[in-house]
Amino acid sequence: MTGEFLSVSDLQVSYGDMTVLRDVDLSVPEGGVVSVVGANGAGKTTLMKTIAGVKAPDSGSITFRGESAVGLAPHELIQQGLTYVPERHTVFPEMTVLENLQTAMVPVTDSSPDVLERVFDLFPILDERRQQDAGTMSGGQQQMLAIAQGLVVEPDLILLDEPTLGLAPKIVEDVRDTILEISDEGVTVLLVDEKIQLSKEVADELYLMRKSTLQYLGERGKFEAEYERILQETIN
Ligand code: ATP
Repeated sequence: MTGEFLSVSDLQVSYGDMTVLRDVDLSVPEGGVVSVVGANGAGKTTLMKTIAGVKAPDSGSITFRGESAVGLAPHELIQQGLTYVPERHTVFPEMTVLENLQTAMVPVTDSSPDVLERVFDLFPILDERRQQDAGTMSGGQQQMLAIAQGLVVEPDLILLDEPTLGLAPKIVEDVRDTILEISDEGVTVLLVDEKIQLSKEVADELYLMRKSTLQYLGERGKFEAEYERILQETIN
């Protein structure tokens, strides 16, 4: 069943008259990390929003575990095990870390009793700061909180849109380690990464988005040969 976990085919998405995704096919197998890289404005965020139920497609199909996900609202997808951490996710600054996590849990009615403690185990920095207002934390800590908000709903698939945007290199390493830990715990990760360095370290399979189309670059062990070229294209 691996190929049937998340499957996108022939997807077309527009804003008004402007089509930003054309004929997009994407297959995310269960387990591991799939990454989509590509330049600013290529359409990566639009792809994530469409999978997450935030943006409606013009046409095409999206199935999650064999069931159509098109037309489902984000909270319904969360209940099915698919969660989305948007780019520049803003946590609620005047709420504490704990309150932010409790708020994120609202769509799910059957949470495991120990879910908060398991997420705090994964993020010791948040554990220490449970009662701190989120807005007083650093950008890196707020990004960790955003990822933690995605995890408290106990997803099977987490969509991470540019989780390292604007973060210092040391913090990028922390986010990388977190992604690998999430994956080790059995949560499948679909990552969007403009700079591609993160993908180079964590992705099992890689796609390149360019001018509204998505190209499959292959599995780890095969896609490395493309890196230098992509790096030039995405940075320039
Ligand atoms: P970024 O890294 O900047 O987020 P991206 O690859 O994620 O880039 P998208 O954000 O998906 O790209 O944007 C794709 C195209 O769609 C861009 O040309 C963008 O200007 C346009 N676009 C995005 N959101 C909207 C919107 N709400 N209304 C109109 N056009 C939009």
